[in-house]
Amino acid sequence: MKQRLLFLGAPGAGKGTQASLLCRQQSLLHLSTGDLLRAEVSAKTSLGLEAEAVMNEGGLVSDSLVLSIVQKKLNNLQGGWILDGFPRTLVQAHALEDLLEKINQPLEAVLLIDVNDEFLIQRLLSRGREDDSESVIRKRIEVFQEKTSPLVDYYSKRGLLEIVNGEGDIGEIASRIEICLS
Ligand code: AMP
Repeated sequence: MKQRLLFLGAPGAGKGTQASLLCRQQSLLHLSTGDLLRAEVSAKTSLGLEAEAVMNEGGLVSDSLVLSIVQKKLNNLQGGWILDGFPRTLVQAHALEDLLEKINQPLEAVLLIDVNDEFLIQRLLSRGREDDSESVIRKRIEVFQEKTSPLVDYYSKRGLLEIVNGEGDIGEIASRIEICLS
């Protein structure tokens, strides 16, 4: 099974859930920039304070802030891993490509978890996270379309893209993902 992976998908597509499951099952490292940023916010670090307002509004934290948080983690990568929620912009994708080249650990696959917008909104509303009010959810989906969806084409051109249908129950989607990555 492929072991150096990137999960791509709109907010609520199930990236975090599926990445956690697969990481546990295959002993991979789960690197979620959302989790890293939330940890900075709870610890009230200067980076956390800088990121908090943008996160609450459903916008994207600046590329330089995100890169400063992930850089060290990426330099120490070994074994298998899943990147979840990073990269989210083309600038981040280029930075990632350079970093992975330096450590000689190229991506093996990019998995797009594909879910339609109305389904996403319903799923996010039922999740009830603090940054999940309906207007913020709509904003996060818009931001995904505008800033992150160009990555689909970017990775497709590099021959790395796999697409999986993200609607259904968790186990069913996990099986589809395993087949895609085998
Ligand atoms: P997530 O848990 O992946 O949905 O991320 C929660 C929030 O953290 C997002 O709505 C963004 O504000 C911020 N965030 C997470 N990852 C990134 C990233 N790679 N680039 C910019 N902002 C990010």
